[in-house]
Amino acid sequence: MREKYDIVVVGAGPAGSMAARAAAREGASVLLFDKRRELGVPVQCGEALNEDVLKELDIKLDPRWVLGKTNVVKLVSPSGIEVRIAERKVVGKVGYILDRKIFDKYLATLAVKEGADIVVGTLVDGMILENGKPKGVRARGASGRLEVRAEVIIAADGVGSRVARWAGLNTALKLDDIETGVQFQMVRVDFESPSMMEYYFGNKTVPGGYCWVFPKGEDMANVGLGVLGSRAERRPIEYLRDFVARMPSLSKGKIIEINAGGVPVSGPLKQTVKDNLLVVGDAARQVNALTGGGIDSAMRAGNIAGEVAAKAVSGGDTSEKRLSEYERRWREQMGKKLERYLRAKEVLLSMSDEELDKLAIALQGVEFDRISLTDMLKVLMKVSPKLLWKLKGLM
Ligand SMILES: Cc1cc2nc3c(=O)[nH]c(=O)nc-3n(C[C@H](O)[C@H](O)[C@H](O)COP(=O)(O)OP(=O)(O)OC[C@H]3O[C@@H](n4cnc5c(N)ncnc54)[C@H](O)[C@@H]3O)c2cc1C
Repeated sequence: MREKYDIVVVGAGPAGSMAARAAAREGASVLLFDKRRELGVPVQCGEALNEDVLKELDIKLDPRWVLGKTNVVKLVSPSGIEVRIAERKVVGKVGYILDRKIFDKYLATLAVKEGADIVVGTLVDGMILENGKPKGVRARGASGRLEVRAEVIIAADGVGSRVARWAGLNTALKLDDIETGVQFQMVRVDFESPSMMEYYFGNKTVPGGYCWVFPKGEDMANVGLGVLGSRAERRPIEYLRDFVARMPSLSKGKIIEINAGGVPVSGPLKQTVKDNLLVVGDAARQVNALTGGGIDSAMRAGNIAGEVAAKAVSGGDTSEKRLSEYERRWREQMGKKLERYLRAKEVLLSMSDEELDKLAIALQGVEFDRISLTDMLKVLMKVSPKLLWKLKGLM
């Protein structure tokens, strides 16, 4: 390890590892830090990922981290009305259920293969600032305290990000902007199909969120939920225990792991670059606010950030103006989508259980040919004019 790098990346989750990989590939010297002693552990994720980001970023599927393949989604309304969507038919894609304990390490390995250095078990706990500009980080780990200088710092430190705040960005989350997720990994689960992802809705049973059952192979599943802090009246795990108790398919199931974590559903930060600093992934709140899914956007944004940072360093200009190429590119690629998901979440949150049931009924006969969000909303408005006023803002 050196005392100075072109780029220091804080956090070796999907965002940080993709940033480190892209930057090292562009020829920059890169150091990737993570406070975890073992990357990917504990899992704080339902582990569902769509196939296209892997293709886009040229990541070959590996059976060590793909535990399930999904192509059907089942949505269940508060009173039990089911809507099934065949993903392959509808969007021409499949999804994967990952093992993030392996996947996160694998992504970090890709960065190392491109030449990045990595230090795990080391908490970045401060920033070196000169004239108010980031110039490096302070950290402590197994080998004591250390300071590393860098031209650019990439904050990929997840939902609880502090790095961006040290550089002066406002990353505060309100109670309404954070979903609390809790999940059981269960065995002896008797689900309908190992390729079906199940989602359950209901304001009383899972306030401000949904429950999920994601199959992980033949009889294993991630069974979890996310609830909105401002709406939940009990601890999230209590809602999850009730859900498990109600579900016949889970009655023989045994819990072999419990994990929990927060999901930022505020929509992306207004600003994700400063002089010498880029913010990516959950730290930048680049999460699908409707589903809580953030692996894909973290990976995409990380990749762009790494490329831009490396080019900025080699060109000798790491000013906010130069780095704003990152902001422009990620917003072009996913900004509109994230904005729509945020508004769709607001619509969903405003709906009563009766309206959710009506929506499910409306969706039942629908032929989902191509299911972009806009197309789906058009269909909804057609089949259920009463929802029109709520859905209008999303078009
Ligand atoms: C319960 C739950 C279920 C979810 N389910 C899904 C799902 O099914 N599909 C999906 O796409 N998304 C899901 N998500 C969201 C997904 O997990 C995140 O969006 C994704 O992990 C974001 O990647 P990231 O790299 O930005 O952050 P993270 O994966 O959180 O990585 C951040 C890394 O930074 C490290 N770090 C933090 N602070 C420091 C520091 N000061 N010094 C050093 N290291 C530090 C952490 O140890 C961590 O390794 C879920 C989240 C939760 C909580």
